[in-house]
Amino acid sequence: MKILAITNQKGGVGKTTTCVNLAASLASLGRRVLLIDLDPQGNASTGSGVDKAHLKLSIYHVLIGEKSLQEVIVSSEKAGFDIAPSNRELAGAEVELVNELARENRLKVALAKLDHAYDVVLLDCPPALNLVTVNALTAANAVMIPMQCEYYALEGLSDLVNTIKKVRAHLNPTLEIEGLLRTLFDNRNMLAQQVSAQLISHFGDKVYQTVIPRNIRLAEAPSYGLPVLNYDKSSKGAIAYLELAREIMSKQYVNKEKKHG
Ligand code: ATP
Ligand code: MG
Repeated sequence: MKILAITNQKGGVGKTTTCVNLAASLASLGRRVLLIDLDPQGNASTGSGVDKAHLKLSIYHVLIGEKSLQEVIVSSEKAGFDIAPSNRELAGAEVELVNELARENRLKVALAKLDHAYDVVLLDCPPALNLVTVNALTAANAVMIPMQCEYYALEGLSDLVNTIKKVRAHLNPTLEIEGLLRTLFDNRNMLAQQVSAQLISHFGDKVYQTVIPRNIRLAEAPSYGLPVLNYDKSSKGAIAYLELAREIMSKQYVNKEKKHG
């Protein structure tokens, strides 16, 4: 079971758009996918067609230890994947967990009980380096960092990389950065091209080859509660996320080959 945390403490870089559309793309390629919404904004839930206002159970109840993941998971039938939804209630978890033991391990323990029911689990993180994000990094085996190629993009990156290093040292020694994903990309923008080149020179093949273009269809689809694949499958956005799904699946394959010798 591959558990991929999609994270960047910078807001609005395309984390949620990537989670929903990568989940749908992987599902369309036959993978069993679970998306876990870890943001009190609940955008991944809405974007997958789940009504966050009327949730009885959410990921909040899992993190505070009241429910198992199985009890909160719902199926997004149209989109073809399962989701553990979230809403504003999750904002309270941070405070409620402060005095709890092993509070960083809550999600990891919950996921272990799923017993490999999924091929891929995607974790949609909030735009903060908080306890919920640390839970995601502790539970994950790999990290994807979506980035907008703009002037300040690299600045926040060192804070994130330091947090990942700390989590690796204390909580999750095998955590790896799988890749940096260029999102909201506008090829005609000179600065975007420069920052993209800079990323590649710093991070080499840690930068995914797939680039996600700025595409209006990706911004429209969530208002219908649909991944772009269900909304406009011939759009540039849909094609890019399918390509990303294939790239990620090929990485998994390479890793497996390495392990076996
Ligand atoms: P937050 O930090 O608030 O959780 P986020 O990193 O999850 O934000 P998104 O919610 O995915 O970012 O995207 C921010 C906004 O940009 C949304 O309105 C989304 O529809 C839009 N958007 C994301 N990616 C694209 C894209 N490739 N093309 C066009 N619009 C996009
Ligand atoms: Mg988001």
